[in-house]
Amino acid sequence: MIRKPLIAGNWKMNKTILEALELANGIKRALLDLAENVDIVLCPPFTALAEVAEVLLDSNIKLGGQDMYWQESGAYTGEISGIMLKDIGCNFVIIGHSERRQYFSETNETVNKKIKAAIKLNLSPIVCVGETLEERQKNKTPLVVREQVEGALSGIDAKDMLKINIAYEPVWAIGTGVNARPEQAQEVQKFIRDLIEKRYNREVADSIRILYGGSIKPDNFKDLIAQEDIDGGLVGGSSLEVDSFCQIVKLCIP
Ligand code: PEP
Repeated sequence: MIRKPLIAGNWKMNKTILEALELANGIKRALLDLAENVDIVLCPPFTALAEVAEVLLDSNIKLGGQDMYWQESGAYTGEISGIMLKDIGCNFVIIGHSERRQYFSETNETVNKKIKAAIKLNLSPIVCVGETLEERQKNKTPLVVREQVEGALSGIDAKDMLKINIAYEPVWAIGTGVNARPEQAQEVQKFIRDLIEKRYNREVADSIRILYGGSIKPDNFKDLIAQEDIDGGLVGGSSLEVDSFCQIVKLCIP
């Protein structure tokens, strides 16, 4: 089974509109002919989505939101709905990033509601899971990751599962400069794929993309993407510069 690699840039709370335009234009220019072989997704802050959408209009690079609320509209001050993301041109949405879990009280239940709302709107979720350093040191990685995966996917059938991407992001590797070793990441990525097989079937498990995320850099990604169960990357810091992001994308192409 050959899964098309997916590289998503999570810009987090960075870039003004002008800076976002510069970055998106730079990436588009550098990757003009490449987007056939790899799915590339840019996830700017909400405030820059409209302008980046316009830049990407005549390219194969896709747009994603960094989060969404599960209700479609209403009195939810400060929230953004999936309908709004679709309206502005998004095809993808990151759900359950560890920073949302850590600082904004996201739980496996809220993650599950958001995934269901995204799928209903044909927004492809990038669902983040991963253990903290303390959990890893206490050998709780499989337990935590299983709870996150099962909680996220509760009530989702095989047909909808095919629309979902999972990102394994060990919390201790996010923004720390310390990436998981390729074999460490592979072990958990395979664990996740096996969980999907048990919940659904082999075909679904073989089809879905499981990304790695956590301090990806051009000089560490080659060995990560070479792992059997790593189908791409969710890139934070290195997605904020044209060169580093584009080098990472190019490492996905054999
Ligand atoms: C992320 O934002 O999901 C991430 C992995 O960040 P970084 O690449 O900066 O570690």
